[in-house]
Amino acid sequence: MTALAAPTYFISDLHLEASRPEITQAFHHFLNNIAHDAGVLYILGDFFNAWFGDDNGSDFIESVKTTLREYSAKGVKVYFIHGNRDFLIGERFAQEAGLTLLPEVQVINLHGREVVVLHGDSMCTADTDYMAFRERVRDPAWQKKALGRPLWLRRMVAAYLRSRSKKSTMQKSAEITDVTPATVAQVFEQYGCTTMIHGHTHRPKRHQLSTALGECERIVLGDWAAHGWYLKADEGGLDLCHFTPEESPESSSEPSS
Ligand code: MN
Repeated sequence: MTALAAPTYFISDLHLEASRPEITQAFHHFLNNIAHDAGVLYILGDFFNAWFGDDNGSDFIESVKTTLREYSAKGVKVYFIHGNRDFLIGERFAQEAGLTLLPEVQVINLHGREVVVLHGDSMCTADTDYMAFRERVRDPAWQKKALGRPLWLRRMVAAYLRSRSKKSTMQKSAEITDVTPATVAQVFEQYGCTTMIHGHTHRPKRHQLSTALGECERIVLGDWAAHGWYLKADEGGLDLCHFTPEESPESSSEPSS
């Protein structure tokens, strides 16, 4: 009897930040109680809510780094694809966290099937403002210049960009902020895969669709808020799951009189 390969897990859009400790706690729960049997973990972007340089250390960032390093040291291979919020994560962070950065679109062999994985923002092509912004900030020359600025200035610019992006997203229709169907079909056809996994849109769902390749499936991971979302893959197939982070003893206890 052949031993089954360890499962592969996919997560995205945790939007970790120091001011949301419950999400970091949910991530710990996920690593220790759900993905403890993983062979591979893919983080498909927007793992952090903001990133303005690997040199921006804080207790919060150091603790997340340690968590990832300890997890990968147990023998789990951890891969990372940038999101639109943490696209400035670099090799230094990757090394310190024990993970491997992947290009923005990657074809992987997932227990025998070819699957294309990406963050997903590159398929929101109807949002022309965002696509123009994305092209600018993904340019290595722009990134080098931006990361050369002092940290205090980077923090300020990041806060400004975030508030502007929040406002403009609220003004845009759901169709504009979701993926563009024609672009999705192009990605399937370009990479020759009939399965795609991505995050970004915060609309967790498994979509069946037809392309020139035939029947395809697009699996969208969810963002972490009231639930944590993940996709589990093994020889048996793919399972899009969510869990409710455990309530801390403080918040579930009866108010004392
Ligand atoms: Mn995103």
